[in-house]
Amino acid sequence: MIRLYNTLSRKIEETTPADGKEFKIYNCGPTVYDYAHIGNLRTFTLQDLLNRYLRFRGFKVKMVMNVTDVDDKTIKRSKEQGMKLKEFTAKYAQEFLADLDSLGILKPDKLVYATQEIPEMIKIIEALIDKGFAYKTDDGVYFDIKKFREYGKLSKLKLKKLKTGARVNVDSYEKNNASDFALWKAWQESDGEVFWPAPFGKGRPGWHIECSAMSLEYLGKVIDIHGGGVDLVFPHHENEIAQSESFTGSHVVRHWFHSNHLIVEGRKMSKSLGNYYTLRDLQDYSTRALRLLFFSAHYRDELDFSMRSLENAGKTVKGFDEFVQKLSGCKAGGTTLEVEQLAKEAEAGFVENLDNDLDTPLMLAGLHAFFRNANKLIDSGKVTLGGAKKLLAFIERINSVLGVFRLEFSDKLSKEEEKLVNEREKARKEKDYKKSDELRQKLLKEHKIQLDDTADGFRWKRI
Ligand code: AMP
Ligand code: ZN
Repeated sequence: MIRLYNTLSRKIEETTPADGKEFKIYNCGPTVYDYAHIGNLRTFTLQDLLNRYLRFRGFKVKMVMNVTDVDDKTIKRSKEQGMKLKEFTAKYAQEFLADLDSLGILKPDKLVYATQEIPEMIKIIEALIDKGFAYKTDDGVYFDIKKFREYGKLSKLKLKKLKTGARVNVDSYEKNNASDFALWKAWQESDGEVFWPAPFGKGRPGWHIECSAMSLEYLGKVIDIHGGGVDLVFPHHENEIAQSESFTGSHVVRHWFHSNHLIVEGRKMSKSLGNYYTLRDLQDYSTRALRLLFFSAHYRDELDFSMRSLENAGKTVKGFDEFVQKLSGCKAGGTTLEVEQLAKEAEAGFVENLDNDLDTPLMLAGLHAFFRNANKLIDSGKVTLGGAKKLLAFIERINSVLGVFRLEFSDKLSKEEEKLVNEREKARKEKDYKKSDELRQKLLKEHKIQLDDTADGFRWKRI
């Protein structure tokens, strides 16, 4: 029985799909005005953990994610860089997908771009106006929060105490500022050629309506799990509930899954504070180490990031690799009850801990105990090939969730890798340092091969 904390009820609850078979999940995706930082990527990795774990436990999953490719920031940045909005956002959307790939995050079953769903958003806004939940002004269409009686139920705002009737035209604002929010922003000169025609005047959608429209369109009126970072609880998800439920007349999201922030020296990692890293800054580290680091804290706790913690995670991953390599080298022989029992108990512990609100710190502690015991057995010669296969099969199964183990070891380079290494060596000898460095980065980034130049030639290793 999988139990997860639900932000709506503030309780840990048994989580099942409404239809008993397939979890319908909607996760808020990136705003593509820059590279994602590793704080954003922590959130996406934790959503990936849940996605993979539900599959591991035998459920089907349909996961939809949006890409915000029109908002204040994307418009401003694309202008600054002299690029058309579409070209600009396509570049960062591409980089985002590459980051997901590097981190071994499963691609969403459906990735939806906001600008491709404008008619759906217009349809909902029109219906909200017709039903009296929204009203028109000169600068756009606004949602009237006092018309939605349950406004504040997710973030636990007490509406009576709030000053209603105020309006905000920005997508993100502080909790004590609960106000009518923009569903549609009327065109202004600074938007340039970014606008869409609509019955209520040309303009562009607000951020919140985007997620209501896309989740309803691709998952229907009942969504099992909706995820995002904790900063999205208010106003984004509160507003999403108000829009979707006023539109459908019923509850839409059954379970709200919010993960906590990656912080640096006590402050949230964010673009505005400038305290962030992207994957490009961490190319010397294995992305498996970063994944492991993300799992070292519970998803509802903040995780304090430091290079040191990443280095330590790297050492642990190296230890995992040595363990797998050791197992691959066991001498011939059958399995034993003792080894089978060890694998069985370790898997039961893995399931118990993840079933319990995805308790990754306890799960990792259990895994370390497993390694200690397995190493003892291996060192005393009690694990032969048959037993090693059982242990490897266990690691392979849990790795379908964790993605932190490397199960294939090869001390040979593939043909393509060999070609790149040789080209790079040639460039280096010819003192074409630019090319040599580009090839070195390519090997590191795409093949996770690190090259070191030493007095007697270069050495390579997989990281
Ligand atoms: P954005 O691209 O800013 O819309 O953010 C994408 C996702 O990253 C959202 O789910 C945010 O809640 C999440 N997020 C933003 N900053 C952090 C952080 N420092 N740590 C973890 N998640 C974050
Ligand atoms: Zn969203």
